Amino acid sequence: MPHDHDHDHHHAHAVLPSEPALRVKALETLLTEKGLVDPAALDAIIDTYQNKIGPKNGAEVVARAWADPAFKAALLADGTAAVSEMGFYGRQGEHVMVVENTPEVHNMVVCTLCSCYPWPLLGIPPAWYKSDAYRARAVREPREVLAEFGVTLLPTQKVRVWDSTAEMRYLVLPMRPEGTEGLSAEDLATLVSRDSMVGTGLAQGPAT
Ligand code: FE
Repeated sequence: MPHDHDHDHHHAHAVLPSEPALRVKALETLLTEKGLVDPAALDAIIDTYQNKIGPKNGAEVVARAWADPAFKAALLADGTAAVSEMGFYGRQGEHVMVVENTPEVHNMVVCTLCSCYPWPLLGIPPAWYKSDAYRARAVREPREVLAEFGVTLLPTQKVRVWDSTAEMRYLVLPMRPEGTEGLSAEDLATLVSRDSMVGTGLAQGPAT
């Protein structure tokens, strides 16, 4: 459960979940015990938001940037304005910066303090994003972490790690895969995974 960002961001990492998270857990336990909800169904709903519905917005932004150079320039110049214009704004997405992967630089996003994440673009963060291991290791040994995600970088690419805060959330603009020249923005969006927009993945090439 991502924590509330209304307080000062520079707190020590809490070992116990925040009060809202505890309350949600208590409610879930109670509802499960009374047979009113099935935990598997809850997991399925959360998975849908994490992996399916959520990241579709971000994928739409990336595909449009690949297809439209003027939009891409505007997106890189002022991410917040460009994504707001597409209707993607709101809580946990007030300030968005888009960072572009190139043959020289691979970008990767973390929140070292907690789990700041651009909700309007990517949905709710996956468990690994919130894990102590990812938060610590993304900064200390990004290449090792990327290798564990199956990401192989070009020898020319440096890794740049962006630490999210309540003030600024990041979206990675992955490199457009080879062989996608004729594709529509709609088809391009299907190549953009959630992880490719966090920097722990790459956009996929078209199916052969
Ligand atoms: Fe955070």
